[in-house]
Amino acid sequence: MGPVYLRRILRTREFALHYLITGGAGFIGSHLAEALLDRGDTVTVIDDLSTGSARNIAGLKENPRFRSVVASMTDAPLLGELVDAADQIFHLAAAVGVKLVVESPVRTIETNLGCTELVLAAACRKHKKILIASTSEVYGKSNRIPFREDGDLVLGPTSRGRWSYACSKAIDEFLAIAYWRERRCPTLVARFFNTVGPRQTGRYGMVVPRFVGQALRGEPITVYGDGQQSRCLTHVSDAVRAAIGLMDSDRGVGEVFNVGSDEEIRMVELAERVRRLTESESDIVFVPYREAYGDDFEDMPRRVPSLEKIRAAIGYAPRVGLDETLRSVIAYHRSLEPTPA
Ligand code: UDP
Repeated sequence: MGPVYLRRILRTREFALHYLITGGAGFIGSHLAEALLDRGDTVTVIDDLSTGSARNIAGLKENPRFRSVVASMTDAPLLGELVDAADQIFHLAAAVGVKLVVESPVRTIETNLGCTELVLAAACRKHKKILIASTSEVYGKSNRIPFREDGDLVLGPTSRGRWSYACSKAIDEFLAIAYWRERRCPTLVARFFNTVGPRQTGRYGMVVPRFVGQALRGEPITVYGDGQQSRCLTHVSDAVRAAIGLMDSDRGVGEVFNVGSDEEIRMVELAERVRRLTESESDIVFVPYREAYGDDFEDMPRRVPSLEKIRAAIGYAPRVGLDETLRSVIAYHRSLEPTPA
């Protein structure tokens, strides 16, 4: 009997598990690794450091239960070995960030499809439970707020590069669900809604690190469009708790869960909030989408998760409010010298 079953039957943490986190040097992955190590588990991360960074996991290196492998997941034999050595797998490696997606669509599509195919096949060969990280982006332009997991996905045309991200992650979801339905391999899908916190970089477009960096440097805060579009920002510690809770639970195998916060804020208000919390004198400027992302860009006006399903499954509710979330990002940026772009 393996440690997964012993832990479940005996309801004890004595039987530590070994987790593999793909993309474990990324923003969410590094926080997930830390949380698992903190509760006594063993963690291996694989990351090619393309968007993740060694700095994100530097603090974990001393821990004897931590191992990092800098390599591409497309090295199938290596990936197979790492999957075999683990009890459960979190698949977080992906091309993310609207800027990256718009500028490098080939890389986005190939990474998001290829890596998920490989890791699902490897996990299912050995019947290892695997959580696939997906995104609220899959809801696309749907206006059925709040977004429920069983709601329709409303994507734009293939001529608009942004939708390749949603579409590639939707295929990942289909594949994960198919592995459960057809082969009884235990899979789970988590749709993360705008996760933010320390270590997130603004390099790939994410709004909070961009606004905070701009405010701290005294540069104009760039609100795209008219700033009336809204998002629900989730602190990374809430996202990580939800992901671990889903993995630990016997419920929800073969299913999709929204992971996020339902506290909604418009981007123009977010800019004002960041300016106030940083005590910055930056101007708030409005930048047309065309200038930010090119001619064929489409944004979504609102994005709010229904948290009913995850609440019912594992009792999840977000704990960190928006101001605390923003303060944690501001403190992180202040700790970096110079404040990154
Ligand atoms: N955004 C903005 N200024 C920026 C970066 C982003 O106004 O410098 C807006 C963006 O247009 C979107 C929202 O902030 O409406 C969230 O963008 P992000 O890329 O963080 O995530 P998304 O929800 O679009 O995936």
